[in-house]
Amino acid sequence: MDPVPFLVAGERVRGDAGTFASVNPATGALNYEVSAAGPRDVERCVAAAQEAARAPAWRRMRPHERARILAGIADGMTRRAERLAEIQMRENGKVMAECRAQVASAAATFRYYAGVCETLGSDVTPPRGDYLSLTMYEPVGVVAAITPWNSPLTMEAQKVAPALAAGNAVIVKPSEVTPTAAIEVAAIALEAGLPPGLLNVLTGTGRDTGMPLVRHPGVRMISFTGGTETGRAIAKLAAERLIPVALELGGKSPNIVFGDADLEAAVDGVIGGIFEGSGQSCVAGSRLFVQREVADRVLSLLKERTAALRVGMPTDPASQMGPLASFPHRERVEGYVASAIGEGGEILVGGRRPNGGALDGGAYYLPTVITGLSNSARACREEIFGPVLCVLPFDDEDDLIEQANDSAYGLACGIWTADYRRALRVAGAVEAGTVWVNTYKQLSISTPFGGFKDSGIGREKGISGMRLYQQAKSIYLGLGGGPAAAGRH
Ligand code: NAD
Repeated sequence: MDPVPFLVAGERVRGDAGTFASVNPATGALNYEVSAAGPRDVERCVAAAQEAARAPAWRRMRPHERARILAGIADGMTRRAERLAEIQMRENGKVMAECRAQVASAAATFRYYAGVCETLGSDVTPPRGDYLSLTMYEPVGVVAAITPWNSPLTMEAQKVAPALAAGNAVIVKPSEVTPTAAIEVAAIALEAGLPPGLLNVLTGTGRDTGMPLVRHPGVRMISFTGGTETGRAIAKLAAERLIPVALELGGKSPNIVFGDADLEAAVDGVIGGIFEGSGQSCVAGSRLFVQREVADRVLSLLKERTAALRVGMPTDPASQMGPLASFPHRERVEGYVASAIGEGGEILVGGRRPNGGALDGGAYYLPTVITGLSNSARACREEIFGPVLCVLPFDDEDDLIEQANDSAYGLACGIWTADYRRALRVAGAVEAGTVWVNTYKQLSISTPFGGFKDSGIGREKGISGMRLYQQAKSIYLGLGGGPAAAGRH
């Protein structure tokens, strides 16, 4: 079978950096070989994107026309939802129901930014003297959107939709683990009337494709979602060139259960918060803080319900958890569980691969709960990005806040309590970009999302998610017929 080509300026391209394998983590079978883009492809792609970004037809396109194209992309994705969900499932192993939900969410993101694009205009500052000022928001030019493998369609949509709505050209560099959904979306965009060159996809590794893209002087902004260390390396390169970066990075989020919470609902929220997507979620609630007085009850519910989770083929509608996204990733997760045991952790449930049967060929790992660790253990400090929950008891609010915030990360936090005054107090004290009270992983495209501390810089989604991809230009119109006096404000 020929390798899957990537897409530059509306054309399917075989790259100059060879090919790489896409493997189905549910079975271990080869999906296909995929073309890898090298420096010459990057060069050609950036040139095409620059030309498309400068074209008067795009620069002067009226907002409602741009909005129509974005809505057309959403329609195309909805029409091809099943195919897009299958692509994601075969590349990262998520269960089909979750893949379908993510396609719907990605399409909704394009539709949302179609609306924002039509409504978000320039600002006029009321006169403060003999002048009037206008602030216009211009596109930055060519945006590189570099995305991870856990939720390729939604991550990509959160960057591509606002960047196009803002009038840029975009080059997507998807993860080499989930390379082809982005190509499908770019083809849908062409069908929806997006001029060629405005949405391009370069597939390949971070080293061969991502790095030359980040270093290219024609790229004027980088929007990155992925691991913290990769984000740091990209931010350093961007700093040398003084271009903006938006970074959505890792997490080690606390999920907090107070003694007065509805414990049944809380345990279900904790389980969904960590085990959905096999724990491969940036907002996974991977540290469970439970108030000591209810710890026994919570642990017993947690053990029973975690053990009952159905791990299976992502194609099986009964499966609640599929495999991990790749075999090397499973080894990494296993390394963390071994390190937790080495630091005194005890396995309450899971802690191993499923036994035999049809799942032997895939990268499966059982949902795992570990007790007996302190917050300073490696498994509590570092992002495992797998189905591993560490349980940490706490005594009072002060103790809790100190431990919850004792982390390099600050992406999300869950609070389970019947007392909303306490919920707001704790929400105010935790260092996290998103806090959920009596719910978890509830996300809305209209609500800004991003991290404190090592979890990132900038906020995606919402109206401000479009401003990320624009630069403000302020124009002063003198009304008094002369130069302004110094120091006016
Ligand atoms: P990763 O950092 O290994 O890779 C992310 C992307 O960067 C991939 O496309 C990769 O090829 C590319 N890349 C790697 N090195 C590069 C380099 N030097 N220059 C340019 N590009 C490079 O992350 P991953 O393993 O794909 O994804 C998992 C991580 O993503 C986790 O840490 C997770 O928390 C994070 N994540 C964060 C969010 C969020 O919104 N905060 C969402 C999803 C995932």
